[in-house]
Amino acid sequence: MPAPTCSSCHAARAALRRPRSGQALCGSCFCATFEAEVLHTVLAGHLLPPGAVVAVGASGGKDSTVLAHVLRELAPRLGITLHLVAVDEGIGGYRDAALEAVSSQAARWELPLTIVAYADLFGGWTMDAVARSTAGSGRSRSCCTFCGVLRRRALEEGARLVGASHIVTGHNADDMAETVLMNFLRGDAGRLARGGVLGSAGEGCALPRCRPLQFASQKEVVLYAHFRRLRYFSEECVYAPEAFRGHARDLLKRLEAARPSAVLDLVHSAERLALAPAARPPPPGTCSRCGALASHTLCQACALLDGLNRGLPRLAIGKGRRVLEDKPPLSGNPSSDPAASQGPCTCEQSRDGATLCGDGGDRAEATCVLQSDLSPTE
Ligand SMILES: [Zn+2]
Ligand SMILES: [Zn+2]
Repeated sequence: MPAPTCSSCHAARAALRRPRSGQALCGSCFCATFEAEVLHTVLAGHLLPPGAVVAVGASGGKDSTVLAHVLRELAPRLGITLHLVAVDEGIGGYRDAALEAVSSQAARWELPLTIVAYADLFGGWTMDAVARSTAGSGRSRSCCTFCGVLRRRALEEGARLVGASHIVTGHNADDMAETVLMNFLRGDAGRLARGGVLGSAGEGCALPRCRPLQFASQKEVVLYAHFRRLRYFSEECVYAPEAFRGHARDLLKRLEAARPSAVLDLVHSAERLALAPAARPPPPGTCSRCGALASHTLCQACALLDGLNRGLPRLAIGKGRRVLEDKPPLSGNPSSDPAASQGPCTCEQSRDGATLCGDGGDRAEATCVLQSDLSPTE
């Protein structure tokens, strides 16, 4: 049976059926539709006002590659200027290749690129050094979670460095749905309420952030990259992803197979969620060190760096943060003694005085406060 005709231009042969609607489109009509939908997301949400200088978090991966390309197409209509900001986490054997991909994209698209490195921003700490210090077991799962906290901070610093007024990241609908599902499963009302909105207006001293691909499915992001012939870096990070997110991803795949709209329904459900007054978390304050939004005295990034510098990275987040906040800060020292990280864990799993959990079995890691207190998003 020959391929049907494109239902938009009625001239070309259709090259795909849209996963959600089943609409048959040719490659160029699909790309035009995809771009129009991102434009609608940006305009309807008032995400990027005319005159905005937009820092695009660029990792070389498919999502940020597609985001940068689409925004470059839309920039004249939106009246915005773009600046790519890439973060060098200091992950040997992985990041160099990804940064090369970003550099060649920037050159091809004639967009300015700035690379900020963990080592420069965080007193010599690279992700590899953090990994050695956190677990003593090399590339453990919690590295991914720690890295997310530091990457968010690094992107913020990079954006300020280039004079940006806004930050955009490449999170797509599947990423968002996973996060919503995780927050539901953890009963994390505060994150559900905050995570539903399209972007943050920049509370505290943070720059406004948004996710223009929030309603685009992962499949369509890949299709867009295919039809626009975008080259991107697709290797998995050497650090294993957070375990709980993997479970949420599997569950979501099964839900989507039974009900194709499940992904978008989840994203919208968080958007429309209203918390009863009693369930609303107290409004966050600001970090006493950096001024970022924080629910404790220190924000997650400052607490983590403080913990690393004391050789107690696992105490840095969760209830252990209070212990650290009672002590004066130390300066950066990546060569801290790994043995110093042994000590009683402050998570709920080890109230009986066991040593730090998370290094050991899955059971401890799944319920450790250290894990549940962290944002799984960026
Ligand atoms: Zn067409
Ligand atoms: Zn801080």
